[in-house]
Amino acid sequence: MAQAPLQPVRGTHDLIGADFRRHHLVIETARRVATLYGFEEWATPIFEDTRVFSRGLGDTSDVVSKEMYSFEDRGGENITLRPENTAGVCRALVTNGLTQSNLPRKVFYAGPMFRYERPQKGRYRQFHQIGIEVLGAAEPLADAEVIACGWHIQQELGIDEGTVLEINTLGDAASRDAYRAALIAYFTAHRNDLSEDSRARLEKNPLRIVDSKDPRDKALVAAAPTIHDHLTPEAAEFYAAVKRHLTAFGVSFRENPRIVRGLDYYSHTAFEFVTERLGAQGTVMGGGRYNGLVEEMGGPPTPSVGWAAGVERLTLLVEAAELTPPAPRPVAVIPVGEAAEAAAINVLQSLREHGVVAEIAYKGNMKRRMERANRINAGAAVILGEEELAEGKVVVRNLDKGSQERVAMEDLLRTLAETGAVESAMHAMLQGILEEELGGEVDDLDEDFGGETESR
Ligand code: ATP
Ligand code: MG
Repeated sequence: MAQAPLQPVRGTHDLIGADFRRHHLVIETARRVATLYGFEEWATPIFEDTRVFSRGLGDTSDVVSKEMYSFEDRGGENITLRPENTAGVCRALVTNGLTQSNLPRKVFYAGPMFRYERPQKGRYRQFHQIGIEVLGAAEPLADAEVIACGWHIQQELGIDEGTVLEINTLGDAASRDAYRAALIAYFTAHRNDLSEDSRARLEKNPLRIVDSKDPRDKALVAAAPTIHDHLTPEAAEFYAAVKRHLTAFGVSFRENPRIVRGLDYYSHTAFEFVTERLGAQGTVMGGGRYNGLVEEMGGPPTPSVGWAAGVERLTLLVEAAELTPPAPRPVAVIPVGEAAEAAAINVLQSLREHGVVAEIAYKGNMKRRMERANRINAGAAVILGEEELAEGKVVVRNLDKGSQERVAMEDLLRTLAETGAVESAMHAMLQGILEEELGGEVDDLDEDFGGETESR
């Protein structure tokens, strides 16, 4: 029977070459900046007990009600592939017994998430998020710092231009109860103009309607009451404090009373970083305060705040800004004849130990190995002929210019670093060595390359 050829599952994608380098850049940059803010990285499982995400019948968010990959495993457990990681981090806080000590905990994470949605640009079924959470901090300074960290990451990536921070408050429980009543009254009066989904949400969670992307709802939502008329004095002051602190952090923002966020657990601060540059999928980062979630996992009251960002959306911005990191250009080590192979391996490993990306072709004569060097976009070749080796020398060829020189083994690193063509093959370490004019490190290098140590 003829079988259909294998394809990646709809909404999934492979990360290869430049795609992977952008992906890696986003995650590494976020990790580095989050570390500066005192966040530690956690990794929680990509699947959890379904109850971690679906907490009773009250959850009306699209993510939980429509988009989850849930299944019964062979042991009859109800499992869900995580659609987001905030719930998993809160579960981990509780089940690792961390709810009482060292609060607030500041957690960074990065990894794949799964949602059954209609795939399109910037929207996939397996996608990746980076995120941070401050667990156990009720103060508005935490909200502002979390947002500042998110903005810092985007600035560090060089993709902040054209992205705007929009913030809102969802108030405290009393504010939301009052707002809820006002929304029910308003939407009930326009019931027949609402989308079906929104009609179903009307009694359960009218706040969800404010978040609706259905064009039928949008006009109604635009004229709907906002929470600002229903804030308690405490909630209003909390919101004012977040804005004050944001200004102190130097983060500008635009207030948008329509932001209510896609998940049901938020209170007080809600925010999104949005851009026009990604079409319909314009939200790159979103988050807010969630004061009840840890309790829902069986922990004590633990007010928390955080955000998650779509790695794929950030990488689309990196690509558009032409900031894709180049692939490193290796140095090709080329033995001429079998007798030179051992010496070549020695040089190869020494280069790698000094942070230089270096490769050796597994077989072939010099011509074949040169062809391979060009195919892997090597910037330079180090050619080891028997004659040169006998004199403790090698030939360094700049593969961009075609020029070459014979140098003493102990001058190899310096020569490579000076060869413009291999600049990008040089690890930061070698750059550092060069900048220090081969200061203290030089003895070390010479020894490694078998040369007599000369004082320079
Ligand atoms: P959207 O409004 O785009 O559906 P959301 O409100 O569902 O987003 P969150 O649950 O807040 O998104 O997730 C945070 C971020 O994760 C989003 O701002 C977006 O950048 C990214 N994200 C969410 N869903 C997807 C997806 N299916 N594919 C790629 N990225 C996604
Ligand atoms: Mg969504």
